[in-house]
Amino acid sequence: MVLVLAAGSACQPGSAQIDSWTDGELARYLMRNGVAVNVDHASLWFDSGALGPNQMDRFSRLVNRGIVDIEAYLGGSHLGSQKIRYFISDRVEISHSTARSIFLPIDKVRDRTAPYLHETTHVVAPCDNCPMWFSEGLASHVQSYISEHAGGYDGGVFSQNGNRGINQDVRRWLASDSGQAVAPYIGVPGEPPAINYDRSNVAAPFYVMAQSFVRFIVKRASIEFALWSPRYVLSVVLEGWGIGDGGGYLPGRAGGNETT
Ligand SMILES: [Zn+2]
Repeated sequence: MVLVLAAGSACQPGSAQIDSWTDGELARYLMRNGVAVNVDHASLWFDSGALGPNQMDRFSRLVNRGIVDIEAYLGGSHLGSQKIRYFISDRVEISHSTARSIFLPIDKVRDRTAPYLHETTHVVAPCDNCPMWFSEGLASHVQSYISEHAGGYDGGVFSQNGNRGINQDVRRWLASDSGQAVAPYIGVPGEPPAINYDRSNVAAPFYVMAQSFVRFIVKRASIEFALWSPRYVLSVVLEGWGIGDGGGYLPGRAGGNETT
């Protein structure tokens, strides 16, 4: 997961960009040729001519509100006052994020199915040393929680009905061989083999179970506990292996218990 995060977290496994453009090339292209929209907490660039001015404006305001809501829920931001950059293009095949930039397919923004809250969570609360179940489970949990309690929409790809339906999703997966195969990777370091290649049999059950498990931790304790516990668990595990502590996670303050 460290390698995956270092290269940017690809939230839907597979190649991230059409025509093999790098993130930097696409960002430079859009900054030169795209349409820029600025809001308080974000700068957005869209493919020129793909969305109407009202669509771009509405999505930009949704993103701005999402950032504010996520930071309030998590109790702060890794970024301080820096703006998050969003690059929205039909050249983006797979939604993903890097340190301060988020790449979203423009058709998903048009259809209101873009995982913008999930990707924003990765940028607001990066967790380079966290196991994949925690990083992806947290981002999916926050995406569902914010859309259910504050506003915006849930761009969840693998869950049927956000946090409200996540345990049902897990039960369905656990009844199958694919679900049983990834379950041992939840709550421990490491990730299931082929998660970057087998989206429907590996990534789907893994993301659903990770979201359910993070939600369980938050419901039993608090978002603060959820933010700190992986660091604690990892530090114990890594110290046991003699390779230092597994810290590096953003300190959070209590964001309140989830109510549903
Ligand atoms: Zn993700």
